[in-house]
Amino acid sequence: MMDIVDRLSPAMASSAYSIAFSATDSCINCLPLQTIIHIHARPWKKTALICRVSSSTSVLSVHSVNSYHRHHGINDSRNVLAMASSAESLVTIPSSNSTRFSNEKEDYDAIVVGAGIGGLVAATQLAIRGANVLLLEKYLIPGGSSGYYKRDGYTFDVGSSVMFGCGDKGSVNLITRALADVGRKLDLIPDPTTVHYHMPNALSVRVHRDYEAFIGELTHIFPHETQGIRSFYGECWRVFNALNSLELKSLEEPLYLFGQFFRNPIACLTLAYYLPQNAGDIARKYIKDPQLLSFIDAECFIVSTVDACRTPMINASMVICDRHYGGINYPLGGVGGIAQQLADGFIEKGGRIEYRANVKKILMKDSKAVGVKLATGQEIFAKVVVSNATRWDTFEKLLDTNQIPKEEQSFQKCYQKAPSFLSIHMGVKAEVLPPDTDCHHLVLEDDWKNLEAPYGTIFLSIPTVLDPSLAPSGRHILHIFTTAWMDDWEGLSPADYVAKKEAVADLIIQRLEKTLFPGLKDAVTFKEVGTPKTHRRFLARDEGTYGPIPSGRPKGLLGMPFNTTAVEGLYCVGDSCFPGQGVIAVAFSGVMCAHRVAADIGLERRSAILDKGLLSLLSWFRTLA
Ligand SMILES: Cc1cc2nc3c(=O)[nH]c(=O)nc-3n(C[C@H](O)[C@H](O)[C@H](O)COP(=O)(O)OP(=O)(O)OC[C@H]3O[C@@H](n4cnc5c(N)ncnc54)[C@H](O)[C@@H]3O)c2cc1C
Repeated sequence: MMDIVDRLSPAMASSAYSIAFSATDSCINCLPLQTIIHIHARPWKKTALICRVSSSTSVLSVHSVNSYHRHHGINDSRNVLAMASSAESLVTIPSSNSTRFSNEKEDYDAIVVGAGIGGLVAATQLAIRGANVLLLEKYLIPGGSSGYYKRDGYTFDVGSSVMFGCGDKGSVNLITRALADVGRKLDLIPDPTTVHYHMPNALSVRVHRDYEAFIGELTHIFPHETQGIRSFYGECWRVFNALNSLELKSLEEPLYLFGQFFRNPIACLTLAYYLPQNAGDIARKYIKDPQLLSFIDAECFIVSTVDACRTPMINASMVICDRHYGGINYPLGGVGGIAQQLADGFIEKGGRIEYRANVKKILMKDSKAVGVKLATGQEIFAKVVVSNATRWDTFEKLLDTNQIPKEEQSFQKCYQKAPSFLSIHMGVKAEVLPPDTDCHHLVLEDDWKNLEAPYGTIFLSIPTVLDPSLAPSGRHILHIFTTAWMDDWEGLSPADYVAKKEAVADLIIQRLEKTLFPGLKDAVTFKEVGTPKTHRRFLARDEGTYGPIPSGRPKGLLGMPFNTTAVEGLYCVGDSCFPGQGVIAVAFSGVMCAHRVAADIGLERRSAILDKGLLSLLSWFRTLA
């Protein structure tokens, strides 16, 4: 029953499909791709119709739940009934260039496990270099934490909705660049305010797209810290400008590093200087006001879910400056468009994607990663395997090793799993929002100490402020999330689990009623609550974690692993690799990974001697963290 309850939490996914068909795996296999499934709830009759509709919209079949079950030999109708009585859903299965695995004979250059933004960027960057790449995604659509789902006329972003890296200049606009490399461009809506902070002591700060407007607002509130504010944010710009002047590729590839160093030694030395530093230490050089320092903590918390003293300066600078330089831009039609376009571009460049391909094991031969084994038992081989699963999932679940390699043990010592989230996706009557409401908000009402506490800080995005097409007319979307740990949601009876979801969500809605939107509760027309269990289930992330956070006070990014691993032929990509969480960071990780892999499989120049020297040096550096 607990399983059903989790399936009933489509907050993280277009779950109607998986709910309906996860009653038995064989049902999934009955369905051709490009099929649209329409579950038509008839709760008053305690039944539901399941319509299979072809992509040309002709109805293939309509089943009552019971006849569908008879047809498929399913005895337990509770899953479908439970889901169907909760909602009516329409889900489109994305296109794929192949319907199903046959007995695979082909050896790929690379198999990428996971189509999050990290995996997609790595795969597309390899494909454009001519590699033969297979991308395997467990879920039904690409995007992972940057995916989407549709319910009741709403298009919800699963996770990310503050989109960095989508600008049209410089080199940190990694999403724009990754899309352009596969011939794609998004229609973007510029966001005039990155985030509106609602903090203790009624501190209200809008981060305007225009840098001077933002600094003006902050110095108006803290006039005695004008110099400190300019100096701290000025140092962020120094880091950002250095990054933005380089061609961003693999820091594990010595020929590239030498090339960049000779072309732009100042930028390289600047970055090397800031690599082991944290934003909080730099802020404290210039700023003394405790409330302003807490505000800088909140600025960093958005990036890393930890305070400024534990947020590497490079990560903080990337986002603190890109929001003014490239600006925050919302993709028309929703964030899911980024992953979908990357996936489509990847296929056009000759790549192959398989959805519903659950990788269970990474296959080894002579201590080298040589392929993967799917849940179906099928084995597929490649020169290299790139894992977009978290490093914890990769090394503790996908690899059959008696002992986790020393490098990973060091990573796990320096970094722990960040909390997961409780998320609420809501549709609300438009009139509950004041007319000048911003798109993104961070809310912490009473005490700065609660910034990192579970359910302490509320993240809120209202993407319909920018793109009304995401909701039915007269409605807005509220995407609310707040940190939560898995422990808090385990061991509950199904009824208690459901009741707790409602209770916690109600408290959060009440808090938003008090701070932002009086009458919010009565304006809700649609609500789905997701917990850490939902994140774990639909995003395949251990304990539903948001990514790594430092266990103690880190030395900047020094301890973060790059893409190569201790296992030959196995690479990692995504938010548990340098430089960490966030869409722009994982896109960087994807670019870096593809560059290193391309050199290793002979698609780019490399020097074996220099490689060995650099990789040993980097591994030694990490021991200093
Ligand atoms: C609620 C929330 C809000 C966020 N908001 C923002 C934001 O506003 N701005 C921002 O920049 N960032 C934000 N982030 C962070 C950002 O979304 C992530 O850091 C980033 O998307 C992670 O990308 P990834 O490629 O590393 O991993 P993921 O997105 O987790 O993708 C990994 C993919 O691998 C697949 N996979 C895993 N294991 C297997 C397997 N064994 N077999 C096959 N497939 C597998 C998963 O199904 C998944 O699709 C947010 C995250 C969350 C959760």
